Amino acid sequence: MSLRPTLDFLLYHWLDAESLNQRERFADHSRETFDAVFDTCERIAREKYAPFNRTVDTQEPHFDGEKVILPQATHDAQKAYAASGMLSAAQDYEVGGMQLPYTVEAAANAFFAMASVSIGSGLLTTGNANLLMVHGTDAQKEVFAKNEFSGRFSGTMCLSEPQAGSSLSDVTTRAVPDGEGFEADPLGARYRLKGNKMWISAGEHELADNIIHLVLAKIPGPDGKLIAGTRGISLFIVPKKMVNPQGELTGVRNDVALAGLNHKLGWRGTTNTLLNFGEGKYPVDGQAGAVGYLVGKPHEGLRCMFHMMNEARIGVGMAATMLGMAGYYASLDYAKNRPQGRPVGVGGKDAAQPQIRIIEHADVKRMLLAQKAYCEGALALELYCARLVDEHHTAGGQAADDARLLLEVLTPIAKSWPSEWCLEANSLAIQVHGGYGYTRDFPVEQYWRDNRLNMIHEGTHGIQAMDLLGRKVLMEGGRGLQLLAARINATIEKAIQQPELAEHANALGKALQHVGSATKAAWATGEPGEALANAVPYMQAFGHTVLAWTWLDVALAGLSLPQDAPQAGRMGAMRYFYHYELPKIDAWLKVVETRDLTCADLPEEAF
Ligand SMILES: Cc1cc2nc3c(=O)[nH]c(=O)nc-3n(C[C@H](O)[C@H](O)[C@H](O)COP(=O)(O)OP(=O)(O)OC[C@H]3O[C@@H](n4cnc5c(N)ncnc54)[C@H](O)[C@@H]3O)c2cc1C
Repeated sequence: MSLRPTLDFLLYHWLDAESLNQRERFADHSRETFDAVFDTCERIAREKYAPFNRTVDTQEPHFDGEKVILPQATHDAQKAYAASGMLSAAQDYEVGGMQLPYTVEAAANAFFAMASVSIGSGLLTTGNANLLMVHGTDAQKEVFAKNEFSGRFSGTMCLSEPQAGSSLSDVTTRAVPDGEGFEADPLGARYRLKGNKMWISAGEHELADNIIHLVLAKIPGPDGKLIAGTRGISLFIVPKKMVNPQGELTGVRNDVALAGLNHKLGWRGTTNTLLNFGEGKYPVDGQAGAVGYLVGKPHEGLRCMFHMMNEARIGVGMAATMLGMAGYYASLDYAKNRPQGRPVGVGGKDAAQPQIRIIEHADVKRMLLAQKAYCEGALALELYCARLVDEHHTAGGQAADDARLLLEVLTPIAKSWPSEWCLEANSLAIQVHGGYGYTRDFPVEQYWRDNRLNMIHEGTHGIQAMDLLGRKVLMEGGRGLQLLAARINATIEKAIQQPELAEHANALGKALQHVGSATKAAWATGEPGEALANAVPYMQAFGHTVLAWTWLDVALAGLSLPQDAPQAGRMGAMRYFYHYELPKIDAWLKVVETRDLTCADLPEEAF
């Protein structure tokens, strides 16, 4: 089973990605150059990632007292990824990039996520360096970002602390100016940082010459106290090893120490660390405190970080999607080959008959079709959002602004919907395998464990839901929601004219109205405690409506093609979504619109 035909249909036929090369920035590109990138990524993923997915799961990173040891396969995969140019795929030619549309970059990265989601931490390095290209000084771009793009250095994002996860306003890592003339350092205003950062992915390893940490910390006010809330947060570059303004290692170790490795349920190919900054283990110039260079202005750290959030969240959604897809393909293959049971006819079962393959049982088909509907639908949504990123950056005028606002509304869905439903797909993939799925002899249990992370990091499910109902659908007078409704209605208008789609177009229209009226009802009292008590069911209903729209639009696009097996599959998945999934939204929205406080009001002692 190959991903490529599905990807080709969605990208070229449904999203018309080729038309992006009419934009000046992408003028050198064509379908041939896009395909060449996909060929390369598909090959590297097949040769350097997929064969080692189990290896990185069983050979967890370990600390030998000096270094964090990872399997050789991880080093080889990292090298091959850097050599492919993917670390700087979307960057300008002048910095060695390929000026690829983000849509193509995201699609190309899908091959790696499906082959082995945790073996590479390239997306973190790219995110880190891309942020510096926007907010860094020329020297910071040259010394840090460019060396990350080449793969010489790797990058991290250090936001979380042991006591501050969802609530970043409570970070306590402290940054103080590093003596006289601290502002004159060629690499940026120089501070000393002290604090602990928890859960830092790729925080320690030997995969690159240096690790560039981007760290959120607070600069104390004149009274020496940390400023409460997110306003006090600033952003710093903290290299593991000190570098000079030419980017050469000086031989001095910065005061960043590994306090411990976290041992995870899944995603074990990437180290996960507790890092101590500035505890004095590696004093610099005889002094405790990790040296950090300010990025952007003081107190604007979160704003800089959030610049990267849309793409980071699409990246998480894509990873969840591809883990779901890997499980779907594995269970489809298994179901085609596993003989078990006999068909039930009017006279019962005939034991004299040979067994049939489990794919012939209706319930197994149900589980396979559910996976297909979740994962291919999620892939379409991620690519659609990636295309919006390109619209935002290159369309100009009103179209760019509309794309920005639509992305604001869709990002919580792009991150959370696949995290929940492609995880459910992984659970179904285990179920299709029966007992074998519960063993390590088959890959599906690992996909589920790897995927379980995605509802937790980059903003938990609950936090995303509150962002959607508490902020995104209300912002700019609800214009984002109106824009989305207009796009959904445009699909409905076309689909209603097609006999095979009209019934579903009507169902989508009703779902959209229901989401709109439930949004109003949730906020009818203006009381956030009441409105947001059921933010997750709201996000589930909103997400299912968006996916129903996506499927209808995809099915519609397929009508102009030969009505072959792939189109029959798309129509089947679309019908599955409308018959088995979309009706769920009424139950989810009921508690939202009645502002049901069953959960919120239960006293703690009653649990
Ligand atoms: C494998 C892994 C990799 C990670 N990588 C990184 C990384 O590279 N860099 C980094 O900075 N961080 C990283 N994280 C941290 C991750 O972003 C946090 O775990 C996440 O933000 C949640 O924070 P927490 O674990 O402290 O949970 P908490 O914030 O304590 O949340 C616990 C539960 O309470 C809920 N909750 C919390 N606050 C509220 C609220 N106000 N209203 C309603 N519900 C609420 C949450 O939704 C959640 O269900 C990683 C985490 C893991 C597990």
